[in-house]
Amino acid sequence: MKTSSILKVLAGAICAVAASSAFAQVKVYWTTSGMFGPFDIRGLIPALPADKSRQITIPVSMWVIDHPKGLVVFDTGNNVAITENCKAYWAPGNCDFLKPSQKREDTIDMQLKKLGYSVDKVKAVVTSHTHLDHGGNIEMFPNAIHVLQKKELYQGWWPEKFQGRSTPGSFVNADLDNAREFNYLELNGDYDLFGDGTVQILSTPGHTLGHQSMKVKTGSGQTIIITQDAIWMQENLDGYPAGLNYSVKDYTDSVNRLKMMRDLENADLFMAHDGDQFKAKGSRWYK
Ligand SMILES: [Zn+2]
Repeated sequence: MKTSSILKVLAGAICAVAASSAFAQVKVYWTTSGMFGPFDIRGLIPALPADKSRQITIPVSMWVIDHPKGLVVFDTGNNVAITENCKAYWAPGNCDFLKPSQKREDTIDMQLKKLGYSVDKVKAVVTSHTHLDHGGNIEMFPNAIHVLQKKELYQGWWPEKFQGRSTPGSFVNADLDNAREFNYLELNGDYDLFGDGTVQILSTPGHTLGHQSMKVKTGSGQTIIITQDAIWMQENLDGYPAGLNYSVKDYTDSVNRLKMMRDLENADLFMAHDGDQFKAKGSRWYK
């Protein structure tokens, strides 16, 4: 073998080792900013037949991704202000229907602390969409790079009227008031966050105009699809559409895309508001 060929082989081997060691360190934690409920599931999924009705208590899912290149938070939950007095910050109708149980120790800053991180160590905050239970604490991260679809930023600041432009809608403009000058990575589609394929942002519109999901490859090689509100819970997987959609067509396409991705890649799919799934699989690391 010529010297140049040997060098090439060696360089390839070194790259492979470097890539696999970075890969080996990616881990993901699933937590919740308190719970919503209990309430009738048909309040969220009106298409569900009466005989499938049940009372549900659901998580407000937030995710922490520890990657060698930086710490990532995926969704920041309900604004910290609702902890003390929900109706002083959210529309009273939202507090009465959702019945948030969020305590101070549940909010994302305290969750990070519990896991051994500080808020200023977060490199990127990815926000699935700008509804009140997902982008509530963007303002806690003034130094992070905020990753959203460009369309979702437009919608968050001027939502469609039928989705609630003001009270008692699902968008709370005050969540973003002091975050307008932060640094935004404004996306138009899918994106490979660290350039190594381990943390992929997936464009999954429908629930809102610019909703996005995430796919993570952990150190053990497990593929995790974090749908957030592209798929709320099991009943949506079973074919009953969510009751709150910007576009039912786009929503259906996104549900199908994520289900087929799960099947093709043997991935685990985690949904934002499935109480049973969180009970079985939440509050833990995936490594
Ligand atoms: Zn939600």
